[in-house]
Amino acid sequence: MRLVLANHPGDACVAVRALRVREIEALTHHFRDGVDAPWLSEWLARLARMRLWIDCECRSMREASPMLFARRTPEATYALARMLDRPAHARGCPFGVAPASVRNADELPEPPRLVHLMCRWFAAARLNVLFPYTGDDGLSAQYAALREVSRSMEVWPGQPLYDFGRTHPHGLPELCRKLSRSAHDTQGVYLSVTSRLDSGELLEPMYSTDAHYQVDEELPPLRTACGSEPDRGPFVVLFLLAGAKGVVRIREVVAQPIHSRRLLVPLDGVVDRRTLEVLLDVQRRLLVGWGRVVTIRKTLCNALPHERGVSFQVQSVGPNGRAVLSFDVLAADAEMALADRVDLEQGAGPIYHAVGATEGPLTPTDVSFRSRVLSRLLDHVAHSGGSQRPAAPTRAIAS
Ligand SMILES: [Zn+2]
Repeated sequence: MRLVLANHPGDACVAVRALRVREIEALTHHFRDGVDAPWLSEWLARLARMRLWIDCECRSMREASPMLFARRTPEATYALARMLDRPAHARGCPFGVAPASVRNADELPEPPRLVHLMCRWFAAARLNVLFPYTGDDGLSAQYAALREVSRSMEVWPGQPLYDFGRTHPHGLPELCRKLSRSAHDTQGVYLSVTSRLDSGELLEPMYSTDAHYQVDEELPPLRTACGSEPDRGPFVVLFLLAGAKGVVRIREVVAQPIHSRRLLVPLDGVVDRRTLEVLLDVQRRLLVGWGRVVTIRKTLCNALPHERGVSFQVQSVGPNGRAVLSFDVLAADAEMALADRVDLEQGAGPIYHAVGATEGPLTPTDVSFRSRVLSRLLDHVAHSGGSQRPAAPTRAIAS
């Protein structure tokens, strides 16, 4: 069994290292017997953060390998799961049997309803797909996209998100009045962008001078979306509000880091943010210097299982708007990557970014990552007979 980089079905597998005997034994006990070594959950969490999976070598060398990965459980620990879109394990393989307990079930748990709504909303508005568009209207276009797609979404069956959702503090008092006037519990959502997650800042827009309703001051425990690490803002925060008979309560709150107050792309944490900064720099250089359009897509937690192991998907778009080259980017903490000797120079498969500092100027690992991404994209231009000379900058179509 080997540690491998997260990949798509059918793609070549990039191995990091073979698993040690005690690691294989611990995984077998965990999966087959439901018994965990004391260090196992922490190790699995680390693998998930490093975007590493495990391939099982129980089948012949000529066949594609069955794949295992660490998944987060509803109890916020980690368990080993099998990727159901990969080949099955060979007869006699300890990972071919039914998992020992429900904790090890292969099915990825459905994200909580509010997290799911946030992911669907951002994905429908395509705020997780970044085009190299310019101009100062970017932020209002993102809010407009959120409002537009909310027409076809519901907070609750029969309650359109467009009518029961607000994305601006100015709209909040009106929503609260509407909820508070109802005779039965009625739900609405409020999406806010904040720099910090302290309750004072979160609750501030809830209070209005309007005396027609009262807001319950209790803030429920903050949930983070899809295992994201809320270490540094800004954040997008989604409130589920419920109102009836003159009172509005905050029922649930979900927060997820975003790139910035001007670019509302949801991220898993500061490591992702640094990787995105480098990718945006590459995107700008290719547009200005080569007239090439590159798109960057952040995988959200409602993506296909194999995509959830990927930080970003980078695509080079041809003149007809079709992708001509596409590859994955895996972002992880540099210390962990170095400790596990992840080979950063591997020439095929996903491009790995070992992130050192998450603030301040680019570090040598950032610069190395940038040049690997640039050369992957420019090699393709050279091989596909594209122009070698810088072309005039063109405005991309942000659709
Ligand atoms: Zn196997």
